[in-house]
Amino acid sequence: PRAFLDVRDLRIHFPTDDGLVKAVDGLSFSLDRGKTLGIVGESGSGKSVTSLGILGLHRLGGTRVSGEVWLDGEELIGASAERVRSLRGQRMAMIFQDPLTAMHPYFTVGAQIVEAYRVHNKVSKKAARQHAIDMLGRVGIPQPARRVDDYPHQFSGGMRQRAMIAMALVNNPELLIADEPTTALDVTVQAQILDLIRDLQEEFQSAVIMITHDLGVVAELADDILVMYGGKSVEYGTAETIFRRPEHPYAWGLLGSMPRVDREVRDRLIPVKGTPPSLINLPSGCSFHPRCPYVGLDGIPCRTEIPTLAEGSDHGVACHIPPAKRQRIFSEDIAPA
Ligand code: SF4
Ligand code: MG
Repeated sequence: PRAFLDVRDLRIHFPTDDGLVKAVDGLSFSLDRGKTLGIVGESGSGKSVTSLGILGLHRLGGTRVSGEVWLDGEELIGASAERVRSLRGQRMAMIFQDPLTAMHPYFTVGAQIVEAYRVHNKVSKKAARQHAIDMLGRVGIPQPARRVDDYPHQFSGGMRQRAMIAMALVNNPELLIADEPTTALDVTVQAQILDLIRDLQEEFQSAVIMITHDLGVVAELADDILVMYGGKSVEYGTAETIFRRPEHPYAWGLLGSMPRVDREVRDRLIPVKGTPPSLINLPSGCSFHPRCPYVGLDGIPCRTEIPTLAEGSDHGVACHIPPAKRQRIFSEDIAPA
C-alpha cells in the first residue's frame, strides 16, 4: 500500500528568458500520517518549489510538471485545478516563512481565519468567529477574543506567525508543509512555534514536511530527512542515520553548521564553501562536484556521470564514492571518535 503522501519522480521545470530552470528534477519520497519529513538544503536547492508542486501552486504559465503526487491514494499532478484547490486549505495546508505573504493586510486576522474556515465548512459566521477565537487561543495568542479583530500589522512578528499557523490549521489539515517557519523569529519564539507544530501534529496525526536550510531545526522534529542539492535529492534516510552517520559530502558540510553536534565534531567540519549551482546550467556529472573536497577520489567519475540515489533503500546516497569508503571517511576524518 502507498504511504499517505507518496511523491514519485517529481519534476518541476519552468522556462525563463535565460533558459529552462530545473527547480526540481526527479524527486521521490514518502511520508506517513503522524510523521515528519525534514527537507534540508541551501536556498535555491528546489525545496520551496517542491512544496508548491505538492500543493498544486505551481500551476502558473508555462511551468512543466511531471511525476506523481499521491495524497491518501489520490493522484494530484493529473487532477483538475479545482480538485487540488478544494484539497488545499482543507486536507493540506502550508505555513510560510513570511506571514505577510499569506495574510491580507486590509482584513482583520479573525476575518481571514473565518473565511478560511467557511470556504470548507457550512457554518454560521458567528460559529466560525468563535472557532477563530478558539484557534487563536490554541496557538498561544493571549486574549484571543480581543485580538481577533486586530489587523496583521497590529501583531508582533511571532504573534503574526502564530496567527498564520492558526489559519493554516483551521481545518485540521492532514498534510502540513512548513517552509522555513521560524527563520525570521528569535530563538525563544522559534522553539515555541516548533513545539506548537509538534503538539498539533500529535493531536491530529498530520503528516508534516518541514523545509529548512538549518539542520538544527529538524534535529528534534524529523523522523526522516531528505537533503536536496541542485533540484535533486542527494541523501535520504531516517533522521537518526542522517545525523549519526551521514554519507554524502554535502551533508557533511551541512552538519558543520549544526549546533547539536558535539563540539569536537562541529569544530572539525567546515561549512560548505562556494555557492549553490545554477538550476539552468547544472555542473556536469555530480552537480556538487565544483564544491566537493572529494571530487575525483580514486578516479571516480564525478565530472561526467550523475550519481543516483538507490531507490527503495532505507538510506540513499547519491555519490560515486563506494559506501564502505564513505563510511570510513566519515568515521575517520569527519567525526573521529
Ligand atoms: Fe563529491 Fe564525487 Fe561524491 Fe559528487 S560524486 S559528492 S563530487 S565525491
Ligand atoms: Mg525557500
